[in-house]
Amino acid sequence: MSMDFNALAETYGTPLYVYDFDAMRAQYETLKEAFRGRKSLISYAVKANSNLSVVKQFADLGAGADCVSIGEVRRAMMAGVPKYKVIFSGVGKRDDEIREAIERDILYINLESEAELGRVEMIAQELGQVARISIRVNPNIDPKTHPYISTGLHDNKFGVEIDAAKRMYIRANASEWLEPVGIHFHIGSQLTELDPIREASEIVADLVRSLKAAIGIELKFFDIGGGLGIRYKDETTITPYDYAQAVLSTLTGMDITVVCEPGRFMTANAGYFLTRVLYEKQNGAKRFVVVDGAMNDLIRPSLYSAYHRIAPATAHEGDETPADIVGPVCESGDFLAKEYPLPPMAHNDLLVVHSAGAYGFGMGSNYNTRGRAAEVAVEAGADRLIRDRESFEDLVAPELKYLG
Ligand SMILES: *Cc1c(COP(=O)(O)O)cnc(C)c1O
Repeated sequence: MSMDFNALAETYGTPLYVYDFDAMRAQYETLKEAFRGRKSLISYAVKANSNLSVVKQFADLGAGADCVSIGEVRRAMMAGVPKYKVIFSGVGKRDDEIREAIERDILYINLESEAELGRVEMIAQELGQVARISIRVNPNIDPKTHPYISTGLHDNKFGVEIDAAKRMYIRANASEWLEPVGIHFHIGSQLTELDPIREASEIVADLVRSLKAAIGIELKFFDIGGGLGIRYKDETTITPYDYAQAVLSTLTGMDITVVCEPGRFMTANAGYFLTRVLYEKQNGAKRFVVVDGAMNDLIRPSLYSAYHRIAPATAHEGDETPADIVGPVCESGDFLAKEYPLPPMAHNDLLVVHSAGAYGFGMGSNYNTRGRAAEVAVEAGADRLIRDRESFEDLVAPELKYLG
């Protein structure tokens, strides 16, 4: 779909996030279709892009929500995700978060340690309410992605080993206050290879079979996590169909609902970050293009050396030469790209940063007292604001009242 980025920047100002809602919907539908003929739930990973209008669109399509804080659980339910499609994951849940999740009667809580199982059991007992649980297994598979986003190896903090998982299922099964309904794994993000997924799925499916054979536990949900990779540059990605087939091939003969928790896949390539050029400058041999968007708006390049395609919104004269595209934040690590080929740029020229719909706005901060950008949805050719640009007053309000 072609978008008039100049008009959007003119209307809403910069820096600005723009989301193509039609593209998001297409991603959901493609993935749902890949699991056709099988009981499945696409449970959108809210952290990828937690704007209420984004979550609402997925809820309207029938998606569930994978949440990693009680704040995300509240967001999901506020956006219309029914409680029986809400999953609460995460390695460190506080007591008050566990309590609220049980009270809200969500689909299940993903447990990540034996200690956490004990806390959930105790809180469920206090409430006099049974907690549905799932256990996150760490299958010790190298997902072959960036170390910061790989989660399925024993040296990552996530999940529990197979033996610990077995002990936990036995304990949960015996508990009056716990109902084990699912099993979960999530080996990493931006996965572009199928083999690690198939291997992990096989290991976990075997565990499901042995739990049934040994202790008679019949799990209802086989939660394969998220992680489906997307194309930022020239990556070869996995197709949703092959992804689904790889998982389903490990589940033959099992009557179990497949739950999938995609985040990046659903929103990344539907999002654009718009930023205007402030200045060009040359320090010795080095060319800098200084823009009004910064690491507080989009931290992925600084945090993971992530690549985002960046292009001027309108065609430019002149040869492209490499430039560091940097923001105004007072950190040398504040850049959107390094040595990126750009034509000569002038004051107020618009740059479009692609693939910015996931882990973009949500990882933003107010560092350097910068208000976070506005967010805009484009749907069926019409645009609308879905989050106000943060004002200076918004930023100081929680502090100002203490000045006296
Ligand atoms: C982050 C996360 C996801 C989503 O990951 P993507 O790579 O964005 O698909 C899914 N499940 C869990 C438990 C997560 O922590």
